[in-house]
Parts: sequence; C-alpha cells; structure tokens
Amino acid sequence: MVWSARQRDHLIGRSLGAGLGVVDGEVVDPPPFPLGPATDGSAGARMGHGDRPHFAPIMEETGVDHRVDAVANAPTDDRVRHGIGAGRKWVGRMKLLVAEDDDGVRQLLRETFAERGLTVEEAWTGAQTLQLARERQPDLILLDVQLGDDDGFALCRQLKADPATAAVPIIFLTARHAVHDRVRGLELGAVDYVPKPFELEELLARVGSALRVKASQDALRARQEELETLVHTDALTGLYNRRFLDERIAQEVVRAQRYRQALAFVMLDIDHFKRINDVYGHSIGDQGLRLLADLVRAELRLTDVAVRWGGEEFLLMLPATDRDGAARLVERIRAQLRRLPLSVDGQAIYLQISAGVTELRAEGDSIDAAVERADQALLQAKRTGRDRVCFG
Ligand SMILES: [Mg+2]
Repeated sequence: MVWSARQRDHLIGRSLGAGLGVVDGEVVDPPPFPLGPATDGSAGARMGHGDRPHFAPIMEETGVDHRVDAVANAPTDDRVRHGIGAGRKWVGRMKLLVAEDDDGVRQLLRETFAERGLTVEEAWTGAQTLQLARERQPDLILLDVQLGDDDGFALCRQLKADPATAAVPIIFLTARHAVHDRVRGLELGAVDYVPKPFELEELLARVGSALRVKASQDALRARQEELETLVHTDALTGLYNRRFLDERIAQEVVRAQRYRQALAFVMLDIDHFKRINDVYGHSIGDQGLRLLADLVRAELRLTDVAVRWGGEEFLLMLPATDRDGAARLVERIRAQLRRLPLSVDGQAIYLQISAGVTELRAEGDSIDAAVERADQALLQAKRTGRDRVCFG
C-alpha cells in the first residue's frame, strides 16, 4: 500500500512534532484588524502596514488610509497575509494599560483609545497596575504620577526592575509640571511625559509614537528569535544541526555523569541511500530524509535531541535512556518504515535503516568517544548486512 504524503503525515502525527528541532508554521494570533479611522473625525490611531515590513500603528491628523481600509475589509486570509507578510510573525493587536485614579480621566482615555482599536486595560491603584502589567503584558502604560496613595515614580521603578515588565514602555501623566519632575520621570526609564490637563491630540501623537517604537522592537525581537532557531536547524529535515548538538551535548553529558543517569547515543542512517539518489533522483532522496526525520521526531521525548549529523546520517541523544531503550526506539522507527513507503510514479519504495547504539559510560568516557562508538556500531551493522541495530 502506498501512502500519500498527507496520509503519512496524519499517520505519524507530524503535528505532534515533539517540540524539538521542529521549525513549524508560525504561531499566529487573531489578526490586529480591523482598525479603522476614529469615528469622531479627530486624529486617529490606526494600524497599517503600507510598505513597512511589519505593521505599525499610524497616527494621522486627517484623512483615511485607504490601504488600511482595504486590508480591514478583506477576507481573513488576506488580512493575515497583509498583516504579517509571507511567513512573518506579527505582534498582534496592541494593548494599553491606563493607570489613573481619576475616574473621569480614566474613562476618557479608555474611550479614546478603545475607539481607535487598542485593547485598553484599566488600573486605579499601584497594586492593580503591577498585577495587570505582569499578567497582560501591555504594549504601553499610561501612568499617573499620583495614583491615589501610590507614587507613580516608585511604581515605574518597580516595573523597570521586574524582568517581566521592564521592556514595557511607560508614559507619565501628571499635573506636576516642574522640570525636575519631568526629568525624574525620564531618568526612571519612562519614554515620555505628558502634563495634565493634556491636549488629546498631543497625547494621541505621543502614544502613537511610543507604540510604533514598541511594534518595531517586537518585530525585531521575533526576527532575532527566528534567526536563532535557523542557526541551529537543518533546513531540509527541520531537525537540529551539529552546531546545536555541540552546545547541548556537553550539558547533557555533565548532567548524566553527575546524577549517574543513563544517556544513550544512536547513530542511524538510510541503507543504500546513494543508490536511491542515483536511481530515483535527489528529490526522492530528500523525501526519504524528511520521512525518516518525521518518524524520528514522532518518537522523541522533550529532552531528546535529534541532529542531522551528515548526509543521510542522524545522531540521537537520549537522556535517561539505556541502550536497550534506545534500540527499542530504533525498532519502532523501523516498523514504521515498513508501513510507510515513499511513492515514486506509483511504485512503493521502502526505506531501510541501520543503527549503532551506545551508552555513556559512568567513568572515563567522553562525548567524542561515545559518538565514535555509536559510529563504529553503525559500521558494524552495515558490514553485517544492514537493516539492523548493533551495539557499541
Ligand atoms: Mg491622580
């Protein structure tokens, strides 16, 4: 029986992914749109993208940004595509925390910003402010300097000292106009300072500016995380590459030796892989590598690491696993391969694998020595007829 790629994915539970080495699809939150113009005709905060590589809030004095409207009215898929670009992460609908003890002012701010498409949280005490900042991770805090009995400056210091909230930009709102108050606020790490009573338009412009900076920082951070993942990932199979293993393996070996835990290594590869490439072409060879990677991934626990070691060679590192456990894992993969052939022009091609299995020894062992033993055991499996597991 020949399975289609889709059936195969389903059978082996590709979505399980086992978390490791998986460069899965993007995690996409609900789209940030629609964010139309302000309904009262005043200056409006809008999310737009235009020619920007990521969307950012746009503040405009007048007029309607037709690009944004066009996107806001488009079907969801289009919105997502426009909003995040192909395969790009985006930062989601932006959240504002208004920390203000005056009910009238707080209500005005809530309505003003909610109307412009921001999600608005409200706090009227210092404790609420700290809690909401931590739990909701707002993109900006409007912070009253005199928040009831609480001192906004002290709150700012606390927010900046907590790693969970340190990156959240803060704009102070205050009736205290003295220069040294403003300077103090900025020195504490606030991005801006708006005196009360404020001009609504000025406040909107300052909030928009702070959110724009926050959005581009978020996009930059997401991109950085993507790059870090790519540096450690094999592009074809989505497994880790050797660079990653070099870093991880040392930690695992130290841990295994300190706690006297088993740590198994498996070197496995596809039998007659060169022949598959020669006879059926490299794209079929690549399909075979991906299939094997998927089957390996489906077997991994969170702490296991699978690396594409070389061309058709995979190295697995399995903490808290002895060599028998590792051999059983290989047998499960071999059983799956007997069920899941590649399909080439209607013809079924069954992959076979050989594996060398070893365990880290309690005394006087090293990473290089263990990997070398796994490699030698793999060679022995090849020499003695392939399609088998040997111990080293
Ligand atoms: Mg106040």
